Amino acid sequence: MSRGVSAIAALARLRDGNARFATNARGTGTLITAARRAKLTAAQEPFAIVLGCSDSRVPVELVFNQGPGDLFVIRVAGNIVAPSLIGSVEFAADRFGTRLVVVLGHSSCGAIAATIEELHRPTSNPSPNQRAIVDLIRPGVEKIVAKYESEGALAVEHAAMTANVRNSVDQLRHGSAVIENLIANDGLVVTGAWYSLDTGKVEFLERPLPA
Ligand SMILES: [Zn+2]
Repeated sequence: MSRGVSAIAALARLRDGNARFATNARGTGTLITAARRAKLTAAQEPFAIVLGCSDSRVPVELVFNQGPGDLFVIRVAGNIVAPSLIGSVEFAADRFGTRLVVVLGHSSCGAIAATIEELHRPTSNPSPNQRAIVDLIRPGVEKIVAKYESEGALAVEHAAMTANVRNSVDQLRHGSAVIENLIANDGLVVTGAWYSLDTGKVEFLERPLPA
């Protein structure tokens, strides 16, 4: 939890925490003690930044079996990347020295389903605000959806979801001078993963983790 937890060490903690969660094991990460809260009043030193989806079934701290002060979590439908979200990642990486950023997608994502639906029936979404989310997802998944069409709805959805995670990772890696600089000079790693509602397990999309 101290400043300077490397990306590799942070990733190991996330993996271990998720293994505890998926096997229903109780870990220290979920302990919320008065002492711990008191310690956190002065400062925070989150060891990882997670950009996840707002879906109620993917509570990031629980999924990684972590407690207060451990994760800097940004949640938005479809784990999309837009300026304020990049700003949130910059803030934590810059301010707290956090060296791991994980974009976390998940199975059965409503934002992905809405985007696939929109690709099939372009006028189905009446809200400009919801459309703004779909519009950010669509460019990164359009070709993938067409490519996997013949393999069935589940395959299309899974391929689109992982493509969307990769797209967000890419946008975080290249959409900010602050983040680019931290990656080039300070050991920051941005990587992607997805959570399975079926198994409770998080799968990382890149291995080995780029150091
Ligand atoms: Zn979702």
